[in-house]
Amino acid sequence: MTIGQNLRDCGLERSDAFALLSHCLQRNKAWLIAHAVDEIPAAQNEHFLALISRKKAGEPVAYLTGKKEFFGRDFVCTPATLVPRPETELLVELALRHGDALGLEVNVLDLGTGTGCVAITLAAERARWQVKATDVSLAALKVAEHNAQRLSVSVSNISFSQGAWFNELSDNAFDLIVSNPPYIAHDDPHLQGDGLRFEPRGALTDERDGLEAYRVIAAQSANYIRVGGVVLVEHGFDQAQAVAALFAQAKGWSAITLHHDLAGMPRVT
Ligand code: GLN
Repeated sequence: MTIGQNLRDCGLERSDAFALLSHCLQRNKAWLIAHAVDEIPAAQNEHFLALISRKKAGEPVAYLTGKKEFFGRDFVCTPATLVPRPETELLVELALRHGDALGLEVNVLDLGTGTGCVAITLAAERARWQVKATDVSLAALKVAEHNAQRLSVSVSNISFSQGAWFNELSDNAFDLIVSNPPYIAHDDPHLQGDGLRFEPRGALTDERDGLEAYRVIAAQSANYIRVGGVVLVEHGFDQAQAVAALFAQAKGWSAITLHHDLAGMPRVT
């Protein structure tokens, strides 16, 4: 079968089919389109068919190819890390906008960095910012550090440390705190669904009601942020009210504002 026939008839969504075939042939999408009538060599064809069945059995494409595009850069991801989501680009956009309003040299803390997609993007986009990224998972931090190296983010611009939320932090004068924490409730059936059940459970759920991380961040951020600083948290589409209430209860926060993602969902507070 030709490349074009394979892409058409494999039974996957077009973008997934392109990602998997690009990976198998080590060619980009434009090349695949330009070579639509070429035959796929037998070995690569077998590899492609194997990946198609794994995808159909629910494995995320990002784990099959080992990478995911986020804010214009490719991040390595492994089953030790959450797969970066396009919704999270909103968190990055807001962080850039708020950080720019604070000044040129901004001190940022990213809590629960996973692949590092948020922290590394901020460091790459703003060379003068100082970004600290933490995660409780050492395996995730290794992936994040690898991503920073691959994407040539300067070590003077970003640093990583292991710890749950604020536990191991020595600095306490951040201008900007960002986080996309685990926010799915422990009994949400989506956790067992395709895609999610392959991702690290600890990156998805707090094993409680999905709001634990916001309780900690709302209660403790004030001890780690400068006066006038900004906290930005991503959350589930139905958690905006609860998150706003937690920040309203915690002392010291004003201008609690909700932002919607491109799908129109309440996504970042
Ligand atoms: N900050 C990372 C991301 O947005 C990881 C988030 C997580 O593991 N909950 O992808």
